[in-house]
Amino acid sequence: MSLTAAALELKPCPLYINGERVISRSTKDIQYNPATGEAVAEIPRCTAEEISAAVEAAHKAFPAWSRTPVVQRCKVLFKFRELLEAHSHELISLVTEENGKTTEEARGSFDRGIECIEFACGAPTLMMGETVDRVGTSVDSWSARYPVGVCVGITPFNFPIMVPLWMLPMAIACGNTFILKPSDKVPRTAVRMVELAHEAGMPPGVLNLVHGAKETVDRLLTDPRVRAVSFVGSSTVAKYIYQTAANNGKRVQALGGAKNHSVVMPDAEMKSTVAAIMGSSFGCAGERCLATSVVVAVGEVADPLVKELVRAGDNLSVGPGCDAGSQMGPVITDESKKRILSYIELGEKEGAVLARDGRKDSATRGNGYFVGPTILDKVNPESRVAKEEIFGPVLSVIRVKDLKEAIEVVSRSEYGNAASVFTRSGGAAREFTQNVTAGMVGINVGVPAPVAFFPFSGWKSSFFGDLHALGKDAVHFYTETKVVTCRWPE
Ligand code: NAD
Repeated sequence: MSLTAAALELKPCPLYINGERVISRSTKDIQYNPATGEAVAEIPRCTAEEISAAVEAAHKAFPAWSRTPVVQRCKVLFKFRELLEAHSHELISLVTEENGKTTEEARGSFDRGIECIEFACGAPTLMMGETVDRVGTSVDSWSARYPVGVCVGITPFNFPIMVPLWMLPMAIACGNTFILKPSDKVPRTAVRMVELAHEAGMPPGVLNLVHGAKETVDRLLTDPRVRAVSFVGSSTVAKYIYQTAANNGKRVQALGGAKNHSVVMPDAEMKSTVAAIMGSSFGCAGERCLATSVVVAVGEVADPLVKELVRAGDNLSVGPGCDAGSQMGPVITDESKKRILSYIELGEKEGAVLARDGRKDSATRGNGYFVGPTILDKVNPESRVAKEEIFGPVLSVIRVKDLKEAIEVVSRSEYGNAASVFTRSGGAAREFTQNVTAGMVGINVGVPAPVAFFPFSGWKSSFFGDLHALGKDAVHFYTETKVVTCRWPE
């Protein structure tokens, strides 16, 4: 594979160790543009020595960085934010090239990433401890937050800018040093971000970047110099990361996969509900952990709703993310496309009605990894398409008689990332919110993604750990508390 890569003169994908750009000596995989199927870059799988060097750099940089005043640390992040904005077009087109997202979707995720840096720049206030004078005679007590040490971030393919920015700004603002291991499917956006972080004045060793998949991750999870691990990806891997990192004595937060439901009540406003569900189910080609992959249609709303969704699907323009007219891009790899197509076949075998077949859309005829919007109606809630994460543009519709049955369907899911309800009734929204077993709830909102100052709070198999990403949880995850009890004679 590497011989072919050399012959094709593919773009390199460097590592960053101790502030230095390094070309890996490892074997390399080839990255393909999902919109065209063309080979674009060589992606290294780091050697054991390279990973150890990155951990050592982070370990050595920690004492000085953790003692750098928090306002100074935030100044580097302010500058980093400025440079990202100045290079936004370049970064957004890299996301489109690597991941396939449309330019508009890439811009949206870029903006949410920037929001995470802005939140982390509040670290001087967010890190404040608590004080109680005179807990005893001549004794005062206070708590203070200290950084944890070397932190690792392992990220998925679906948000190449945003998900790394869920982690590294807050970890670094809190005084930790960081090693990013981006998805092996989209690592080049991360390379550019790390370059810009160094241009912003990140001291050597504070932010390091390594590449690879399981072998690389296993080395990081078992290295005694690593103190905390943040992971975002599929549930199987999340559970493995959680168990392995915890067994090796590390603090860990592992965000997993999802199967999100949108419940549509008969009184829902049809136009805005259809628009929200289309955006949620087919935005980012369904490759979003907050995507609606099941609509639970309550009572008589089912027939008109499915009709409107199919109509909207027919009007959705599927094509390369870089084309201005495209509203939905390709899925990430040929392998993903095949997996998604096999789920469509499975849905039919399981007795669902194929209301819209995305396999026939014109974009699917080229070499890119396109699947058009697909809608399976009258899906059995116990079928595999209803329960398993498909992670592509396939929407299942389950028909139920009332809200109680809808909540039961949602709550039987193995996953608990997000759930939405579409209704004009405050009472129905309240009943749904209080009873549904999901960590992020939408009321007339298709993608209930919390803003950065709230935690990204999945439940059940969508999250393994205690403290979630973002919000105050992130500050607590990346710091340890010290409580001081102090006596001075009066
Ligand atoms: P993935 O689990 O395949 O990979 C995630 C990361 O883990 C990558 O960096 C990858 O290189 C690494 N990895 C893969 N297999 C591994 C293994 N066996 N051992 C150790 N590391 C391994 O996920 P993906 O396909 O990149 O991303 C899609 C998944 O991520 C979906 O399930 C989606 O729901 C989930 N996701 C969840 C959230 C959330 O907030 N809960 C956000 C985004 C994506």
